[in-house]
Amino acid sequence: GKAVRLDRFLADSGAGTRTEVKKLIQKGLVQVNGEKAKKPELKIDPETDVVEFDGEHIGARAEFVYYLLHKPAGYVSATEDTREKTVLDLVPKDGRRNLFPVGRLDKDTEGLLLITDDGQLAHRLLSPKKHVDKTYFAVTEGKVVPEDIEKIRLGVDIGDEEPTLPGKLEILSTWKEDDDRKKVEGESGAVIANSNAAGHKADTEGCIWRSEILLTIHEGRFHQVKRMMEAVGKKVIYLKRISMGALTLPDDLPKGKARELTPDELAALK
Ligand code: URA
Repeated sequence: GKAVRLDRFLADSGAGTRTEVKKLIQKGLVQVNGEKAKKPELKIDPETDVVEFDGEHIGARAEFVYYLLHKPAGYVSATEDTREKTVLDLVPKDGRRNLFPVGRLDKDTEGLLLITDDGQLAHRLLSPKKHVDKTYFAVTEGKVVPEDIEKIRLGVDIGDEEPTLPGKLEILSTWKEDDDRKKVEGESGAVIANSNAAGHKADTEGCIWRSEILLTIHEGRFHQVKRMMEAVGKKVIYLKRISMGALTLPDDLPKGKARELTPDELAALK
């Protein structure tokens, strides 16, 4: 195997930052092959040397990493772009890994995006044969009505060779916007909030209805949610993915932040 510095090895294994692991080593908390290691610069071979921290065995660097990102609007789902900010700007940099987003969200779409270097998992999640469910929250211009649920349930023509697979549409609320851009009528007829979820301006064309919906789809065609709603005459003015397969966007993950998948999340995904 290849020799690496002990402090780098520990930092790469997630034991802490380079500075933190140096302190751990200097405190005598790290053993190599059963003996206290005192020098951060000690060279070890991760394949043959046994490294322990506080009595616990530290394995070699994880084969793959998996980040769950709460994508904000304004970032493109690409690994590099000459002009735009990319979703990779939002996860920890690791020059030795070829991280990429699993599928794409439009630049103006927010929500759950998985970023990994595990090509096999990505392939399985994106395979059209697997039909991994993806659920989106959207705000539409125009009033979504029960007939739309039925149309979407049957699959809609969005201008591709084939109509879409059936989708599951749920109407969460519908309201009319007055000139003050307030929600004036919710499901119950009560005022819901002082502005709509998208912060969108009421248009001047006389079309002042808005709906909040959930749409679950099984494919991942280009602009699919926007085009499906367009097919029933509604324009998506805000879009956020809230789940993909077994993964759900956590309530406590702020927009623009990423965290690693938990072992449970990873197991559920695989
Ligand atoms: N459907 C869309 O229209 N846009 C997305 O970003 C994702 C799904």
